[in-house]
Amino acid sequence: MADQFKNFIGGAWVEPSNGQYFENRNPAKQSDLIGLFPRSTREDVDRAVAAAQAAFPEWSRTPAPARGDILRRVGDLLTERKDEIARAATREMGKVLTETRGDLQEGIDTAYYAGVEGRRLFGKTVPSELRNKWAMSVRRPIGVAGLITPFNFPLAIPTWKMFPALVCGNTVVIKPAEDTPHTVSLLVEILEEAGIPKGVVNLVHGLGEEVGAAMVDHPGIPLISFTGSTETGSLIGAACGRSHKRLSLEMGGKNAQIVMSDADLDLALDGVLWGAFGTTGQRCTATSRLLLQDEIHDEFVQRLIDRAGKLTLGYGLDDGVDVGPLIHAASLAKVEEYIEVGKREGTLALGGSRATGEGLDDGFFFQPTIFTDIKPGSRMATEEIFGPVLSVIRFKDLDEAIRINNEVKYGLSSSIYTRDNVASFRAFQDLDNGITYVNAPTIGAEAHLPFGGVKQTGNGHREGGWEVYEFYSETKVCYLDYSGKLQRAQIDNYAGAPY
Ligand code: NAD
Repeated sequence: MADQFKNFIGGAWVEPSNGQYFENRNPAKQSDLIGLFPRSTREDVDRAVAAAQAAFPEWSRTPAPARGDILRRVGDLLTERKDEIARAATREMGKVLTETRGDLQEGIDTAYYAGVEGRRLFGKTVPSELRNKWAMSVRRPIGVAGLITPFNFPLAIPTWKMFPALVCGNTVVIKPAEDTPHTVSLLVEILEEAGIPKGVVNLVHGLGEEVGAAMVDHPGIPLISFTGSTETGSLIGAACGRSHKRLSLEMGGKNAQIVMSDADLDLALDGVLWGAFGTTGQRCTATSRLLLQDEIHDEFVQRLIDRAGKLTLGYGLDDGVDVGPLIHAASLAKVEEYIEVGKREGTLALGGSRATGEGLDDGFFFQPTIFTDIKPGSRMATEEIFGPVLSVIRFKDLDEAIRINNEVKYGLSSSIYTRDNVASFRAFQDLDNGITYVNAPTIGAEAHLPFGGVKQTGNGHREGGWEVYEFYSETKVCYLDYSGKLQRAQIDNYAGAPY
């Protein structure tokens, strides 16, 4: 009998109202059933929102440093259970253990950062234009935060949203991706153990179009934070626009690594292997375009094919494995479709097929794949594939590389390998992305810096760092007039006017 998991509502682990469950299976070994998770309904969302609303008055008035203390305890407990949770995450998500350990570390760092931020939720005090009057701004929590998360960072992304939301004094309803519900169940266990009061964090498992849509529509949720595909983000954006919800969207990418002819090619090679095939290409920041300058194109492609062809595929908990499986059958089918597109638009230089053989047949494994002769503007050069597929594009000079980088609808991250400072600063200035790396791959965000993208990758907000705290709080301006008389602001005879 498979393990049956529950929702967490109002401080109790509870069954879904309809008694229905969905299966969560290991993408590397489909015969491995991890457990049955609630296929919740609108009714469960209603209950979770009611619990979160009931907990809000007390939690929002708890001093922010005390809220932060709980998150520092969460950081300690995540550290203690890092290996166990990383293993659970690899089992349900597929990426190799070193990567899920990194995912856990990002969550730990986010917990400690948020813990301290509770002592630092700065407002501003500014001079009033009038005598004997005080003017300042403070930050206030918003209410129930609805958090909807994707599969690819099963721990880090939920913590990016949940911890700042909590420190700012909001209560939370979270719906994790249906592919990775176990990791978030473990995270919520930790929050419970750390002493989060009842109803402050509520977990509702289920499908996007059921539970996710119910959260987006719910009048008791004034704020939605979503990370996932641009297509889903468009639906959520339209719904939130109708009801005027505060909304943060972090969506797809088509990230490019640019290699100039003066670059350290060994370094650039390490970078693109990690960027394109790490996490099986399923990072929002994955390198899916490699832009090579004419002079080094042929040599670099040859070296890349040699190295990528040697990557070892397998179950992420086994030693010596470099690349895990894709997340599910639909993702495999999508990658297979793009292989046909790639064959029409370019030259298949490596891979191109499902990976089979010992230890691979029961999972969604796909060979690391490289297409060359891809033209800017083509589908392979502009559409997000979200798999281990790299499109190589040739360019003549930096201007052309910048133009190619920018001609996609996404704008998450970019990278340039060069020894030329001028080229580096041109990249910082002219690449249309939320993040640009010099001499490092397109992946590698740090927890204490803002993270997010421009154009159709995001809607102007950022996760991480100091900026996310602004999303989870409202600014309120407070004036105190102690002059004892009616003073009129914006009137041209204010005290001290020089004319
Ligand atoms: P997805 O859009 O399929 O699902 C994301 C979440 O949305 C899941 O929890 C899902 O259940 C839910 N959902 C689906 N339909 C919904 C609906 N109609 N209403 C409400 N919720 C709904 O994305 P995914 O496949 O889990 O993740 C991959 C995508 O996420 C890629 O496009 C990737 O680039 C993107 N991503 C972006 C970032 C970033 O920070 N920019 C980070 C990670 C992943």
